[in-house]
Amino acid sequence: MAEYDAVVIAVGMGSVPRLGIEGEDAIGVWDALDFIRIAKMGGDVGRLGEHVAIIGGGNTAIDGATCSKRLGAPSVTMYYRRGAERMTAYGFEIEFAQVEGVEFRSYVLPKRIVVENGRVAGLELISTDPAGNARPLPGTERIVPADTVIVAIGQMRHTALLDAFGVVHDVNGIAIVDDGMRTNRSNVYAAGDCMFKPGGIDAMVVEAAQRGKVAAQSVDAFLCAEVR
Ligand SMILES: Cc1cc2nc3c(=O)[nH]c(=O)nc-3n(C[C@H](O)[C@H](O)[C@H](O)COP(=O)(O)OP(=O)(O)OC[C@H]3O[C@@H](n4cnc5c(N)ncnc54)[C@H](O)[C@@H]3O)c2cc1C
Repeated sequence: MAEYDAVVIAVGMGSVPRLGIEGEDAIGVWDALDFIRIAKMGGDVGRLGEHVAIIGGGNTAIDGATCSKRLGAPSVTMYYRRGAERMTAYGFEIEFAQVEGVEFRSYVLPKRIVVENGRVAGLELISTDPAGNARPLPGTERIVPADTVIVAIGQMRHTALLDAFGVVHDVNGIAIVDDGMRTNRSNVYAAGDCMFKPGGIDAMVVEAAQRGKVAAQSVDAFLCAEVR
């Protein structure tokens, strides 16, 4: 096993969590990250059908929606569990998606994916209480048309990796670092998207690159101090 004097953890964010609802394994249900990666690399995402439902209200959801439009889906709708003002997508992204013809529905949760012959055939939604932090309202269930469902409900964190390094992190799996991106371990640093948190560091390339540079400077200072 190789030994290192310092380590920078820059593993990005993890995969999209599962919805945990019936029908999730049907053909036509996509993890948004896989869908966007394949579509943008010119790969084949198969038949989207007439109605594409996007679950989520963040940047990745917007990318999934605009990608679907560009691939020719006539009807693309984003379903978000809270009010539009709580969506984490940037305002300019939402405007762009609207210009592309993407529709938005707020205060709804997916309850079940309707499946026929192994394929998505609809999406059952339940309304959420605008005063109740996405609490579902029983009796408000209805089925909307959907041929493809793209799930973009956030990304998981590499918490187990931080734990393996003995790095202290918050409840969301984000390492606690000082201004030099150094963790509680003197020779372990963290930078990039794995440090993203809403209201804090943005999940953008420029931020990731900048924090990476800061981490690199800190590692350099640490190693130079070691050899002195
Ligand atoms: C759909 C989408 C659209 C985006 N659009 C934009 C945009 O338009 N503009 C913009 O600025 N930013 C955009 N971003 C954000 C941008 O991609 C990130 O900010 C940037 O890639 C972060 O860089 P990173 O190196 O921290 O993480 P990543 O680019 O995610 O790289 C992390 C790497 O670590 C690897 N890894 C993970 N776990 C391990 C492990 N245990 N061992 C070894 N390797 C591991 C991964 O495979 C990956 O290669 C977008 C992100 C998404 C998801």
